[in-house]
Amino acid sequence: MNVHARLADLATLGATGDGIDRALFTPPEYAARRRFADWAEAAGLSVEQDRVGNVFARLIGGADAPPIQCGSHLDTVKGGGAYDGAFGVIGGLEALERIAAGGDALRRPLEVVAWAGEEASRFPLGCLGSSAFARLTPYPQIGALIADDDGESFADALDGPSGLLDGVRLRDDFPAPAAYIELHIEQGPLLERAAARLGVVTAIAGQRRLRVEIVGRAGHAGTIPMDGRADALCAASEIVLAVERAAHDVGESVATVGWLDVAPNQTNIVPGRVVLRVDARSVDDERVAEIERCVRAAGAQIAAVRGTPIGVQLIELRAAAPMDARMRAIVRRACERFVPEPLELPSGAGHDAMCLAQIVPTAMLFVPSIGGHSHVAAEKTAPQDLELGVEARAAALAAADHELPLER
Ligand SMILES: [Zn+2]
Repeated sequence: MNVHARLADLATLGATGDGIDRALFTPPEYAARRRFADWAEAAGLSVEQDRVGNVFARLIGGADAPPIQCGSHLDTVKGGGAYDGAFGVIGGLEALERIAAGGDALRRPLEVVAWAGEEASRFPLGCLGSSAFARLTPYPQIGALIADDDGESFADALDGPSGLLDGVRLRDDFPAPAAYIELHIEQGPLLERAAARLGVVTAIAGQRRLRVEIVGRAGHAGTIPMDGRADALCAASEIVLAVERAAHDVGESVATVGWLDVAPNQTNIVPGRVVLRVDARSVDDERVAEIERCVRAAGAQIAAVRGTPIGVQLIELRAAAPMDARMRAIVRRACERFVPEPLELPSGAGHDAMCLAQIVPTAMLFVPSIGGHSHVAAEKTAPQDLELGVEARAAALAAADHELPLER
């Protein structure tokens, strides 16, 4: 089975007719991990899992040294596509199979990992598996602390029937790898625009999320004169436009308001209160900080003019993750064996590689997303680009094994 056929097979798990629902520790997500573990075992890899549900498939080779890892995730957003995450896992498996079949001696083991719960589609925290592995998230404490919308905790779901894999050895002491290389679909249009088939990631964007609360005065939509209103949604609309303007003015950044809660949200009542969330990202942390300053300044000004108190709260802060220079060069040279000019580009989306980058030298490579579509059913990458991604990653893994010292 090639990478394309395996992805098509995985895409049936959690298929809804309008995308894929494969949230962490649900039956379809369990089935996807199961299939990955079965394929890896059939390929002669040694398969183990840790206590948060990360699945490791190892190609034994050379010295008993820390492995070079690759990987991604098998869970999806609600209504997600067949390639986000799954391609990195299946493409990694395929790369290891090719390296094994090639017969070249390895200096150390190579590993492909299916990280548990990269998407925050069930529990309100992304990159659960990779952040626990990198010890950025306190585990097992976190297991009891976070719960899904139905109140089931991460720990209970992990112990449930769709949690840890049956019959796969559980291990506690996975060493940090020597290096990490993640392969992913771009999820944006930059490769396609540049007619480039492989991308080398420069850095993963840092991110700030703000909660903005606007307090107005609710009232009868028919009787309150226009000059006597404190309309919270009108003030919120100005905030939304200020967010857009801030990203344009600051440059090399993006900012979005994708969530609003309007109260009372009635046709015949002047909105009395709005809560909205701002998502701002850039590979330059200072630019994201500047967007926050712009939003706060706009909030103060709009509040003064409209008489609607506006509170701005920082609710999430993630620093940008620059990729390791040496690993980037290794990945770039591997890509150059297949395409003359791989595109260097930042990743606006978050990835498990963000967590790994905190502990080991990390790099990422991208293949194009047709039309830039992702997190939707229309997500697609051309089969020949999937194939090229696997080849480039196999070459990068082999080169990293060759070049990196065994002693860390
Ligand atoms: Zn992903």
